[in-house]
Amino acid sequence: MKNLGDPVSILKGVGEKTAVSLNKLGINTIMDLLTYFPRRYDDLSLKNLNQAVDGQKVTVKGIVATNPVLSYFGRHRSRLSFRIKINDDIFNVTFFNQPWLKKQIELEKEVIVFGSFDRVKNKILGMKILNSSQENSFNSVYPSIKEIRQNTIKKLILQAYQEYQEVIPELIPDKLINKYRLEPFKKTIHNMHFPKNQVEAQKALRTAKFDEFFIFSMKMQILKNKQRKKDKQAEIAFNSDFVKKFIHRLTFKLTDAQKKATDEILADLKSPYPMNRLLQGDVGSGKTVVAAACVAATVSAGKQAAIMAPTEILAEQHANNFARVFSGLGINIGLLTGSTSQAARKELLPRIANGEINFIVGTHALFQNDIQYHDLGLAIIDEQHRFGVNQRRAFRVKGDHTNVLAMTATPIPRTLAITMYGDMDVSIIDQLPAGRKPVKTTWISAAKTNSAVGFVNKQLKLGHQAYVVTPLIEESDAVDMKNAIAIHDRFKAIFEPKYKVGLLHGQMTSEQKEDVMVAFKNNEFQILVATTVIEVGVDVANANTMVIFDADHFGLSQLHQLRGRVGRSSDQSYCILIADPTNKIGKQRMKAISTSTNGFFLSQKDLELRGQGDVTGSKQSGMPDFKVGDPIGDLNILSVATQEAAAVVSDNNWQSQPQNVQLAQYLRINQKILTD
Ligand code: ADP
Ligand code: MG
Repeated sequence: MKNLGDPVSILKGVGEKTAVSLNKLGINTIMDLLTYFPRRYDDLSLKNLNQAVDGQKVTVKGIVATNPVLSYFGRHRSRLSFRIKINDDIFNVTFFNQPWLKKQIELEKEVIVFGSFDRVKNKILGMKILNSSQENSFNSVYPSIKEIRQNTIKKLILQAYQEYQEVIPELIPDKLINKYRLEPFKKTIHNMHFPKNQVEAQKALRTAKFDEFFIFSMKMQILKNKQRKKDKQAEIAFNSDFVKKFIHRLTFKLTDAQKKATDEILADLKSPYPMNRLLQGDVGSGKTVVAAACVAATVSAGKQAAIMAPTEILAEQHANNFARVFSGLGINIGLLTGSTSQAARKELLPRIANGEINFIVGTHALFQNDIQYHDLGLAIIDEQHRFGVNQRRAFRVKGDHTNVLAMTATPIPRTLAITMYGDMDVSIIDQLPAGRKPVKTTWISAAKTNSAVGFVNKQLKLGHQAYVVTPLIEESDAVDMKNAIAIHDRFKAIFEPKYKVGLLHGQMTSEQKEDVMVAFKNNEFQILVATTVIEVGVDVANANTMVIFDADHFGLSQLHQLRGRVGRSSDQSYCILIADPTNKIGKQRMKAISTSTNGFFLSQKDLELRGQGDVTGSKQSGMPDFKVGDPIGDLNILSVATQEAAAVVSDNNWQSQPQNVQLAQYLRINQKILTD
């Protein structure tokens, strides 16, 4: 029997090599292939240039009017230029990096060019040469990689559709198809790949988005119900007086938002069901102290708690901070990271296993095989989006009945968070501690770097400290280090011996990093030159100024995180962004970050400016990847699909109802969910 779960290798023309290439694109099964949707559609039908607007994609037919000229610059870069005559007008045509096209251009012969039209220069930037059979078509364009060509992908999709169309199920109950005027799933798949025109493609896309969100929400709801039902022994019978005592000993009062989040988490701990809760709050909103209150509660019930952080610096800082707030409360803290010495490990592991250590702080080391807990009641994951699903799971299953608290500084609105993290409950700290002043942010051009240096000097005179963040050239610690060293030298030449300048970069050992961090905290350095390794980490209240070089190379959310390192006291703090963005989007981003300190606004802007469907954009902000849906841009579709999925699942017998049979079967067989 044909099944959408069949491997793609079942198709004609898919040998081992092609199968490997397809896997790279995330395509393993026929279903993956059928839902490998186009990135865009090119309308190749002929356009009248008089009506074309500047920058528009056009297809034009003309007569080649000059001999083509091919010139190379660099090893792999080339330019092919010629003129064409359309009616009585002459246009310049240029193709970059497609030297092989020269063969197809012959003087006085007809040619059909697809490209974008530059009205000002009367020029066409060529993308393709078409043959006459293509000129009227509406063409799907797929994301592809070197190993596999567009045409191959297209042919395979067509083959898969032809052979499997009769087994494409209907996933959405009829009632919903009618209610939201959606299209059947089979038609959607057909029209996503082979639309006749833009209207058909748009209609299909709307349904494809709904379907994708609906299936995602179904999975989340089912998962949540399953987890809830399985375990009823996760209660943490804590001592409220002990928790109150911990809170009263703090040097500050909790904000209302912190209190509310703490109450929500404590209520979960008390319940017999295992907690699975996400704590969201902007940088500096004070998530850690909320986590600490919950640790205190867990320990008071005789169970262990552990917090896992993505970097050693952060784990070490957590260990120090927790040691301070817990001092005198009789909570034994252990620190376990990749660089914990063998001797220290040997001493620590038995004490974790016998329960003598109540609270373990660490990195990925916390879920390795050789770590045994006595009774892990609460597992906290800091910066949860920096960990993979399997890592989070590996940590959770270290206890028999573990409650999970995940923390993130990625600010997304409550409605979206509830949907995206449908298998978790969500608490949000949407308030900064009183007395915090927003970081004053200015954007200057590199030509004005001296004024930034002068400003830093002024702040140092007032007794403050400053961060200088060095350019992010590429994802390579080695190159970043070179930059950092150069800027470090430059600042040393300017400021030493009066002020001392420290250096922190990713190539240093974690011991070296910690030494620098501690020295900066103790004001032994007044300036810290650093790469993004400070993005999460060092908390130095006296540092009130940050200068960021080449700020336009960073994402908005990343800049916001970096900036969160200052503004950690009641003093006014400052962030100076040095950037000369060359395009409009770069300028918009610099404007956004210098006028807003709202993390939610910035992450939304980040997604908008990166463009819809940009996978890296949504990855950065810690959201699951969708193929066609954009959780921000399509928030309406997302919330409707979520509500409807919840309504379906709320009926205990939903799987056996006729309108849901195909859906349930699909989830069971293709999504491997609902198996028990
Ligand atoms: P987050 O992890 O959410 O970015 P932290 O928990 O690191 O924030 O808190 C940032 C700083 O604010 C810490 O130095 C912390 O001690 C302090 N802090 C937390 N809550 C409060 C509060 N209610 N009032 C004053 N300071 C606070
Ligand atoms: Mg934090």
